[in-house]
Amino acid sequence: MRPVTFTAFGDPAGQGNLSRGRHGKSYHSNGAELEEWRTRVRNAAARATGHHALVVLEKKERTCAQCGTFRTKHGLFLGPVALDAVVAIARPPSVKRPYPTSRRHSDWDHHARALCDALTGLIYPDDSQVVDGHVRQLYIGHPSCPLPQPGALITVSEVS
Ligand SMILES: [Zn+2]
Repeated sequence: MRPVTFTAFGDPAGQGNLSRGRHGKSYHSNGAELEEWRTRVRNAAARATGHHALVVLEKKERTCAQCGTFRTKHGLFLGPVALDAVVAIARPPSVKRPYPTSRRHSDWDHHARALCDALTGLIYPDDSQVVDGHVRQLYIGHPSCPLPQPGALITVSEVS
């Protein structure tokens, strides 16, 4: 299987900043942005590959409601994969620093988490298949940044 590369545009949101609600239940503190970003990543992956994300109407469903494929086979890559991504972030006009190192930005591993999660059931059936990865966080305009606007350039490749 050849590597798959695609670009998702939109403001990248990291996953992993949990807050505790009134009843002790934890939730993603950036839930709305995170969900929108994950949707954008899934849509970009679907456009690039012609595949669709797993559709389950009930949580314990074992097959996709759209195509009938087993959940454990619902993906492009069924073995171990590597995920490489450049996450491009808009630099606020007042910011002079060359890298998004301020605490206002998500950590690079939180971006990795969000991307790995978003591609589950579409690029691979389970994100435990991601055994290797590299995520860089860059401001738009940085000489190494490949994107002209906020988003992520993502490559998934087979590991053998
Ligand atoms: Zn399906």
